[in-house]
Amino acid sequence: MSVDLTKMPKLGFGLMRLPTKDGEVDLDRVSAMADAYIKAGLNYFDTAYVYHGGKSEVCAREVIVKRYPRESFFLADKLPAWSIKCSEDRDRIFSEQLERAGVEYFDFYLLHSLEDGYNYEVYEKYGCFEWAVQKRDEGKIRHFGFSFHGTPELLEKVLDKHPEVEFVQIQLNYLDWDNPTVQSGRLYEILRSRNIPIIVMEPVKGGTLADLTPENAALLRKAAPEASEASWALRFAASLDGVMTVLSGMSTEEQMQDNLGTFTDFKPLSEEEKAVVESVRAAMLSVESVGCTACRYCTDGCPMNIPIPDIFKAENSVRVYKDAWRAKNFYNKVTENAGKASDCIGCGQCEGVCPQHLEIIELLKGAAERFEKD
Ligand code: SF4
Ligand code: SF4
Repeated sequence: MSVDLTKMPKLGFGLMRLPTKDGEVDLDRVSAMADAYIKAGLNYFDTAYVYHGGKSEVCAREVIVKRYPRESFFLADKLPAWSIKCSEDRDRIFSEQLERAGVEYFDFYLLHSLEDGYNYEVYEKYGCFEWAVQKRDEGKIRHFGFSFHGTPELLEKVLDKHPEVEFVQIQLNYLDWDNPTVQSGRLYEILRSRNIPIIVMEPVKGGTLADLTPENAALLRKAAPEASEASWALRFAASLDGVMTVLSGMSTEEQMQDNLGTFTDFKPLSEEEKAVVESVRAAMLSVESVGCTACRYCTDGCPMNIPIPDIFKAENSVRVYKDAWRAKNFYNKVTENAGKASDCIGCGQCEGVCPQHLEIIELLKGAAERFEKD
């Protein structure tokens, strides 16, 4: 059962960084955003068991499932390796997901964050590939794939072993194309060589490519004065052959409107525009920033309650923007009621789950040096 690419919208609404109010997902705001998205003729929603601590799936139910006919939209959900301790957990989690989302089936279902080591071992150990195919045969899943944060070698191995996989979701953006810890370019080429449809995640690299330095932003503005920085990053990903859908984890109405503008009468990047993107990429790579995408997978299990991605944001503010004063203020604010970088006890939990394979412990030592000295 292959995915019909002609039916897929180029922009997917990622439900992982939703607007919140008093600690809860703001359903009114998400409803308005979803309405605008659907009105623009788009219909792919991406959630996961872990997004917003399970409330993203509930949000999908309230905002989309209850308000739109089931066949009018695609809903994607994901199985988390780190919550599976026995074979029964697969069905327990799946039933919970169907109930939370209020659906009888998922259009797309993914093994979440497949990567070298623990996650992949769990998916194999508990027969999750075969289990998902069974779910597909039962009609509970329409299409089966995985999101991937591993090496090109692992991707080849998994695809050789599991030809039943219909699509793969990878991190892809213009900055990470040759990044040795991500290797977007190599992953993309492998999938293209096998003609496997690609879903793109992190096209704006957790907001990094929508928040350029004034110099880099000026390069883009000179080429297209009205276009947003995010629109360049999204167009880069969506212009690539074989890309089925580009996910954007939109948090505000403004982001939604900007993205809808980009994808209404979508225009792939021209050769001249690709050269502009390349010049921005080269300028960014001349500065060494921490490649944190703010996914926050590391924070839940940190025994010292250290706001790791926020600290890296402060670190990058210094590295990329050279704005030490603002970065220090930001650091003080985010660590005011939480752990500081120097509180790290080196337990390694965070490094074990970081999809970007960052050396978090060392980076925190550097941040402690930088921000905690008077
Ligand atoms: S190594 Fe440090 S930052 Fe990472 S989980 Fe342990 S205490 Fe937290
Ligand atoms: S340090 Fe790694 S796991 Fe933590 S938020 Fe950043 S990218 Fe995600």
